[in-house]
Amino acid sequence: MDNVVGLKCVLCGEEYGADEVLYVCPKHGYEGILDVQYDYELIGKRLTKEGLAQNPDYSIWRYKPLLPVDAESPIPPLQVGWTPLYRAQRLGEKLSLSNLYLKDDGRNPTASLKDRASAIGVVKAQELGKRIITCASTGNAASSLAGLAASVGLRNVIFVPESAPRAKVAQLLIFGAQVIMVKGTYDEAFDLCLEASDEFGWYSRNTAYNPYLSEGKKTAALEVCEQLSWQAPDRVFVSVGDGCIIGGLHKGFKDLLALGFIERLPKLVGVQAEGAAPLVRAWKTGAFQPMVPCTIADSISVGVPRDRVKALRAVRESGGQYVAVSDEEILEAMRQLGREAIFAEPAGAAGFAGLVKVADEIDPQELIVVLVTGNGLKDVESAIKATKEPPKIEPTMKDLRRLREERL
Ligand SMILES: *Cc1c(COP(=O)(O)O)cnc(C)c1O
Ligand SMILES: [Zn+2]
Repeated sequence: MDNVVGLKCVLCGEEYGADEVLYVCPKHGYEGILDVQYDYELIGKRLTKEGLAQNPDYSIWRYKPLLPVDAESPIPPLQVGWTPLYRAQRLGEKLSLSNLYLKDDGRNPTASLKDRASAIGVVKAQELGKRIITCASTGNAASSLAGLAASVGLRNVIFVPESAPRAKVAQLLIFGAQVIMVKGTYDEAFDLCLEASDEFGWYSRNTAYNPYLSEGKKTAALEVCEQLSWQAPDRVFVSVGDGCIIGGLHKGFKDLLALGFIERLPKLVGVQAEGAAPLVRAWKTGAFQPMVPCTIADSISVGVPRDRVKALRAVRESGGQYVAVSDEEILEAMRQLGREAIFAEPAGAAGFAGLVKVADEIDPQELIVVLVTGNGLKDVESAIKATKEPPKIEPTMKDLRRLREERL
């Protein structure tokens, strides 16, 4: 890992060698999230726009020189990343926006953006010779870790709150994870998992706590710019729970700026559900306060965002904003995305709901990217709730004719 110069605490700024600490700043414990520091001069020699244009590897690993893994480390066989970026012309017209793009990260192998982080987690576990990897999750980090671990035959222990949607639990079980259902909230499952990894020496793929995960998530930002022929968007909308994705996006855009691949940072807009919006509140008032989360969007139902320092910094430094949306607005966003053939789970659609909310404050010519973070098949109950049950008829033309007159 000669491309990594160290790990820097987001609270005190102290820098450590990558071999010196495993997870967090020793002085600050769970709060002392570390940020990976790179040697951009060296990376600039290994990663060029021209080289990328000729690289046939359309996955996150095309950016390996910018990732915190050994150049020789074997990578998991699952195809992670390089998800499609669609131009959404009709949706854009409805919002009076001429340049709207949707990046569908539900197209990753386990159907959420989390695969970008889990792929790195699994490589790190193998580099360290760990035999078991663990995480706590509202669902997607779990199913993603279980899938990536299965692809390399790595044992994994997964903590989920008992409220996790069935489809995500089904993924875990099918991928052969050791699943532990916690009678409590996600935040409680998270704390239990951290203690377990300390006591048993399991490798922790816990969001924020493990500094390498947001480096995986940043690949979404790298891809967006490459897919737009190295034009940085003006604004990027993304849903926020723990804040690791938005922190990762910020990192990815800053990397590209440092390498001279883009000329400015996009404004980052973090979208939270009204029932789980501690970062919206912290951004407005300057004071952070945990809350008891309650929203249909399970993947962002987080009361104590672990990566809050990076998440708040991402929005502040990029000149963006935080927006809260109601569950009703999230369901409406699911319907609208569905009309463009993008099937999002509630948290996957929340970013778009945020755009709808502030669209009339945006210059129509701006280049806007909305990240769709997870697939709708993960939570079919919510999709049905967002729409309505279809009519039922007898198998006769008489009934069909009557229905046609009434409804079609
Ligand atoms: C995890 C997740 C998020 C939020 O990511 P954070 O890093 O926790 O902010 C958003 N959408 C989906 C679908 C997710 O799985
Ligand atoms: Zn520190």
